[in-house]
Amino acid sequence: MIRDNKPLMAEIDRIAEVAGYLWEKGWAERNGGNISVNITRLLTAEELSMTPLTTDIALEEPVEALNGQVFYVTGTGKRMRYVAKAPFCHGALIGITAGGTSYHILAEKPIAPTSELPSHLLMHNYLRTSGRQTNVVLHTHPTDLIGLTHCTPYLDSEKLTRLLWSMIPECRIVVPGGIGIVPYEIPGTLALAHATIKQLSRNDVVFWEKHGVLAVGEDIIDCFDAIDTLSKSAQIYFSARAAGYEPEGMTNRQLDDLAEAFRL
Ligand SMILES: [Zn+2]
Repeated sequence: MIRDNKPLMAEIDRIAEVAGYLWEKGWAERNGGNISVNITRLLTAEELSMTPLTTDIALEEPVEALNGQVFYVTGTGKRMRYVAKAPFCHGALIGITAGGTSYHILAEKPIAPTSELPSHLLMHNYLRTSGRQTNVVLHTHPTDLIGLTHCTPYLDSEKLTRLLWSMIPECRIVVPGGIGIVPYEIPGTLALAHATIKQLSRNDVVFWEKHGVLAVGEDIIDCFDAIDTLSKSAQIYFSARAAGYEPEGMTNRQLDDLAEAFRL
């Protein structure tokens, strides 16, 4: 029984916790957003070889580096507010098989994974190939951050990173790599995934123009914190603008001093 695996269930609880935050933040309207987490390291040899619930389902593009890996993935059409309450009724464990050309559902119910699964897996595959300790791909719809991507002058990674860093010291510290930006693509397409992967070579957080944000990392709480801190910066910026003035922002010297003090 997979629920007897305490380390796995602790990780599933953390996923549910973050799903709840996404809903509470207003970043997960209807079935907006999706989560995938590599949980292979938490499974026993016996669990890794359990009989799957489905036959193998072919992937659009192979993900060779993920062969044998197991992921918790939110379900297609499933709402974050329900993932938070019952993660195994609104998501499933899937295993990558056949040299990375297909997957099957392992547990606990045959919940079909998010339609973004091929994109998530391509990102996990890229990150694993790059040797990065990345278990999590988190995509969500933060209102304020999406709002920034509706303004052409902000669709510049360096400029927007500088703006958000300069609103509050924490942002420079929590998101030291800054953000990447992907021009608008149709949601769920592999074109969007490939454009995102280009940004992931430099950034752990990527903004999708007029759509949302994607964060990758070792830990799901850290991924949420990075997006939450960027959102705080955006709120400070919009609050100042709504009050009728352009916020001064921290100076380059102040930002450089932070980088030095925190060895960023
Ligand atoms: Zn989305």
